[in-house]
Amino acid sequence: MQHTPLITTIVAGLVLAFVLGAIANRLRIPPLVGYLLAGVAVGPYTPGFVADAAIAMELAEIGVILLMFGVGLHFSLKELLSVRAIAIPGAMAQITVATLMGMGLAWWMDWSLSAGFVFGLALSVASTVVLLKALEERRLLDTTRGRIAVGWLIVEDLAMVLALVLLPALASLLGSADGDTSARSAIGFREIAATLGITLGKVAAFIALMLLVGRRVIPWLLQVISLAGSRELFSLAVLVIGLGVAFGSAELFGVSFALGAFFAGMVLNESELSHRAAEESLPLRDAFSVLFFVSVGMLFDPTVILRDPWPVLWTFLIIVVGKSMASLLIVLAFGHPMKTALVISASLAQIGEFSFILAALGISLGLLPTEGRDLIITGAILSIFTNPFCFALSDRFASWVKRRNTIKVLEAGESLQQHPPAIDPGLRTQLSNHAVVVGYGRVGSMIAEGLAGTGVPVLVIEERHQLAALAREHGMDVISGNGVKAALISAANLGEARWLFVAIPNGFEAAQIAAQARRLNRELPIIARAHSDAEIEHLKKHGANHIIMGEREIAHGMLDHAFGGGLYCNTPHAA
Ligand code: AMP
Repeated sequence: MQHTPLITTIVAGLVLAFVLGAIANRLRIPPLVGYLLAGVAVGPYTPGFVADAAIAMELAEIGVILLMFGVGLHFSLKELLSVRAIAIPGAMAQITVATLMGMGLAWWMDWSLSAGFVFGLALSVASTVVLLKALEERRLLDTTRGRIAVGWLIVEDLAMVLALVLLPALASLLGSADGDTSARSAIGFREIAATLGITLGKVAAFIALMLLVGRRVIPWLLQVISLAGSRELFSLAVLVIGLGVAFGSAELFGVSFALGAFFAGMVLNESELSHRAAEESLPLRDAFSVLFFVSVGMLFDPTVILRDPWPVLWTFLIIVVGKSMASLLIVLAFGHPMKTALVISASLAQIGEFSFILAALGISLGLLPTEGRDLIITGAILSIFTNPFCFALSDRFASWVKRRNTIKVLEAGESLQQHPPAIDPGLRTQLSNHAVVVGYGRVGSMIAEGLAGTGVPVLVIEERHQLAALAREHGMDVISGNGVKAALISAANLGEARWLFVAIPNGFEAAQIAAQARRLNRELPIIARAHSDAEIEHLKKHGANHIIMGEREIAHGMLDHAFGGGLYCNTPHAA
């Protein structure tokens, strides 16, 4: 078996991760806990089969690249710049606070100042994979909170690029500081300034190259490949762009893989093919990010907890409590709501891959003792393990805060009229004789605009924050959230509505909405959208009375166009 370590690592890692992840899921524990345990099981510190840790780490790196590429595909430059006012100072302040806390712990353990600095820095950066997975699972990537968290992550990533290139220079400076000759210190400082300047210059050159050249060349390349009509070539092109830019940027510009991949995705974001590109890379992304958790689990030596219980506990508390409190306060200080602050602090309450890289470098430069690396790895695995629970806790706290605020608003006797745009799902709309439109995408937005143009009051239910905000901008009343939820449906006052338009693509969800609406109002005309005959049947059974099949309308439209209208005008369009 020894001659195929790559295959055995992939197979053993994935199989065990699958089994333990499925068991965790069954027990209603987040699957990543299962993936981590799979890593511990195939790691060198537990008996039985031992997979190749170095290979697992490299595979995990591919996961990081694909994940960041995927996030880039969701992000435009405008969106990235829109969060800079909080992400840059927020991340810097949080890195400073967390580093100081780490230095405090190092001082307590009698480590040198430089050891404390590297240790603190390693505790201050969150893992890309853990953060993105958490946001993706909770569908937060498209929200303002999600964007701030990603912006924050990018700043941390940049700070790490700088830290990695500056540490060697710093090591020589700290070495010279022992000898205490000011001339050597001055040389050290000059060296640091020069390294800093060169690194910043390289990062800037990379970003400029991507925005000026990449932005044109990459979408063009994908466009050309898509015309070839081969699915396989298209998937390959997506992979080549993601991995190629990440690798090239790391080799040529010293930018991290993750940052390179993020920019590759971002320059593709504006092209129409970006959605297809995202779909193509999704399965690979999932498989490789599972290997990330396995590789972290492999590094974990459980005996550290018994050997150094107090330092382990303090390290864990700094990561999970200290860091999140710091980010919570920083976000609140910037005037963002508690809900945003809670998401950011929960997503940063963990450490991962960057911390390992920093620790490894720190040890090779003689700055960090090996106990430091053990504490960092143990802190990482424990904090990744508890991260889903941090999110659950923050969700609970957020809904408690929200309930309290709602009660306060009602007690203060403020009428809903004073807050027309933001209807809380717990409160009813005041509209009557209105049209309710579920979904404000390509279809729903046209319906809503059309209705508003004729003077009918419109209430939109939309789950994506961005689109809900757009509907508000266009003067509609909006309930934001998933229309399937009973609370949202009853807030829409369907008893007094004139029509319900269910303009969402998922037939099952649409049917559930129609069924609930029908129970509330037997007479209500429910007009729904479908994409197949089976969906039409399903919707009919659940109470929708007019169903429009999108594809049929497109076909009619095309034929009408070909025959200059007239020919198909009399065909029954609705089922
Ligand atoms: P489109 O296919 O472009 O018309 O977009 C459909 C829209 O419906 C998207 O904006 C979705 O966010 C939204 N949507 C899908 N399912 C739901 C749901 N269950 N509740 C509310 N909005 C939804």
